[in-house]
Amino acid sequence: MSLLERDKRSIWHPFTPLKGSPEPLPLVRAEGVWLYTEDGRKILDAISSWWVNLHGHSHPYIADAVVKQARTLEHVIFAGFTHEPAVRLAERLLQILPNGFSKVFYSDNGSTAVEVALKMAMQYWYNAGVHHKKKIVALDGAYHGDTFGAMSVGERSPFNAPFDDYLFEVEFLPFPACYHPSCCAGKRLSPAACGQVATLLSRFEQLAQSGEVAAFIYEPLVQGASGMRMYSAEILDQLLHIAQKYDIICIADEVMTGFGRTGRLFASEYCLHKPDIICLSKGLTGGTMALGVTACTDRIVEPFRQEDIMKTFFHGHSFTANPLACAAANASLDLLLQPQCLSRIAAIAQAHLDFEAHIREHRRVRQVRCMGTIFALEIETTQQTHYFNEARHHLYTYFLDKGILLRPLGNVVYILPPYVIAPAELQMVYDAIEVMLNELGAPSDTARNNAPAQQ
Ligand SMILES: *Cc1c(COP(=O)(O)O)cnc(C)c1O
Repeated sequence: MSLLERDKRSIWHPFTPLKGSPEPLPLVRAEGVWLYTEDGRKILDAISSWWVNLHGHSHPYIADAVVKQARTLEHVIFAGFTHEPAVRLAERLLQILPNGFSKVFYSDNGSTAVEVALKMAMQYWYNAGVHHKKKIVALDGAYHGDTFGAMSVGERSPFNAPFDDYLFEVEFLPFPACYHPSCCAGKRLSPAACGQVATLLSRFEQLAQSGEVAAFIYEPLVQGASGMRMYSAEILDQLLHIAQKYDIICIADEVMTGFGRTGRLFASEYCLHKPDIICLSKGLTGGTMALGVTACTDRIVEPFRQEDIMKTFFHGHSFTANPLACAAANASLDLLLQPQCLSRIAAIAQAHLDFEAHIREHRRVRQVRCMGTIFALEIETTQQTHYFNEARHHLYTYFLDKGILLRPLGNVVYILPPYVIAPAELQMVYDAIEVMLNELGAPSDTARNNAPAQQ
């Protein structure tokens, strides 16, 4: 039986309809930005395998670190025990994180990092004996993961409709539609959009004034899953300023933006006001192993530091601080912090800006957005939402046939490459996108379409 037949019998793939989906591609290996298929093709991974890969696939330095760790201490219960890889990683993260964070709590992935952050914030007020702060505030279009707490603070999209009745109540603020620092000066956006920002701020202030808001959770500067939507650090700073004025815990979900994606190590570095809690995962191990981190400031830790056993944070996972994952993360950090890697990040950011300038006026382009190594292009379309869910699949296979892995979100084609991508490889991706736009022809009328993004 072929691998595909065996897969079809036994596997349920993520975010994949069981009927009508294209067959998965059997891979035999991967190296650098290239994925090698069973039938001898190679595919350029232009989205870092769902935004996780930083240094290319099967990186020998990370592989060696994992192998060495596997032969030394593969795993141990993390309640009552500790080990060098976990302590070293925590020390290093606390050094590079953009605030005086004081503790690291380990978990398994981005969703669990968010769950831990939410539970920490809720129990912070509980332990402090404050019972009127129960509301959580998030942004429209947010994506924070697929577990229940994470779904609750995320956009109520068609994807979690079956669970709507089970999600806790959250106050959603309108998304700050403009993204470029100059837009509020009227350079890039209509005044209406800037008016939206004023509405957003007063809405938040109003909520905050009630004294009932426990925490504010946000993806700093870029909302990934909702279509790489970007907003300015100035606006985020104003939101954080309001939150801090009213003693609201700020949770930065940097699961996607962390580790250099936005051009700096963390997106929160672009803001003056810093979060109290930060969530990390995806790039943490360079994309090699599953690992989540929730770091918090000393202020958050304080009400947990009590004799009363009932003030304990009763949360943990079987594989908390898995030594192999921590070893991979330490190795990935070694690579990330090298000058060569940081200059590759800057070079990718510049290449994106150059391509933005080149493609911005294309008749099929509605908007181009760049933030560090993230490039997103919204296709001008006249079709209905429904069409675009199909176009998305169409574009996905279109690019795959050309040997490039791109996975559009609705009508947004984005590039989020591993940092080791060579200039010529990046150019291949730009060229493929430009050819695709040319092949689309002219939009037939000016009707607007707001297709929901799809992961
Ligand atoms: C992917 C993502 C998550 C969820 O991470 P998983 O590891 O997939 O559970 C949470 N928040 C953001 C911003 C993400 O992009």
